[in-house]
Amino acid sequence: MALRTIRTLGDEILEKKCRDVTEMKPRLHELINDMLETMYDAQGVGLAAPQVGVLKKIVVIDVTEEGDDPLVLINPEILELSGEQTGQEGCLSVPGKAGIVTRADYVKVQAFDAAMYEFIVEGEGLLARAIQHEVDHLSGILYVTKVEGELITATQETEE
Ligand code: ZN
Repeated sequence: MALRTIRTLGDEILEKKCRDVTEMKPRLHELINDMLETMYDAQGVGLAAPQVGVLKKIVVIDVTEEGDDPLVLINPEILELSGEQTGQEGCLSVPGKAGIVTRADYVKVQAFDAAMYEFIVEGEGLLARAIQHEVDHLSGILYVTKVEGELITATQETEE
């Protein structure tokens, strides 16, 4: 495994749309492992492939304290959104900053895991926020375009 360089705001790759993963190849397993290592190293709760310069629909998320139960979503499709939450959000591609974003409070997603098995995951609260943030990355959308008011200096480690 290896740490990858996290692309930051201003890098045009962050605004491009990602392609579907059609087949799990060894180098994609390596990418997923590297993304997890890079996310944990940066103390983030989520990371999308374009943030490490790869335009593929892959995200990793871990909102748990222990950091041992990561979620890998390949080709995620949001099936359902409901409710509303307004709170602080950050992004590893916008280091040291945070902003207030309103998101759905519940999300249901269909995706493939690292073995390319299709599954469905539901999330609420922080998990729902992280999933929506990461899926946005795959469409080239950064949270800074959804911030209510100004970006502020981050006070907590919830970067995605
Ligand atoms: Zn992000």
